[in-house]
Amino acid sequence: MDLEAASDSEADWPRDQTDTLAGALRVARADLVAHLGGAWRRFDFDLWPFEGRLPSEVVASTLWFESGEPTQVLLGIVESANFEPDIAVVAFPEFVMIDWRTRYLPSREQARIDISQPGSLVRLQGAVAEVALRRRKSFFWCRTCRTCNPPEDRSEPGICFGCSVQYFGAIP
Ligand SMILES: [Zn+2]
Repeated sequence: MDLEAASDSEADWPRDQTDTLAGALRVARADLVAHLGGAWRRFDFDLWPFEGRLPSEVVASTLWFESGEPTQVLLGIVESANFEPDIAVVAFPEFVMIDWRTRYLPSREQARIDISQPGSLVRLQGAVAEVALRRRKSFFWCRTCRTCNPPEDRSEPGICFGCSVQYFGAIP
């Protein structure tokens, strides 16, 4: 896997990167989808607000993917420099507000799995499902637009930010 080539501008990435993730995990696409679901997208985060807050290997050489709308789970592939087995990291998409923008951060690791070992896909499946379930439990339905929203998009109980601006006079 060539992380250099993968670090192009986020805007240029194809929306669905399920094939890329299957390649990084060295599994067939059908096996990946059966265990971890599909609709995987590349995920990137700005590092500068988080300097010193992340494990160094997460910063150095991890290819991150996200799945869900809103994002439910983050999955990172850590490529080691000295040809040791790749490690997959499953993380909860933690959010922080910086300059009035929501930024996500894979700071809460659920699992760290050696993908060269037998059964690693099944172990990943359990970790991904657990994080996604926990994250979904924090979602709410906006009573105005009736869409599903993550907690970071809550303006007041039961109202999303979009509706508070569009209908209730909030300043964006
Ligand atoms: Zn709404």
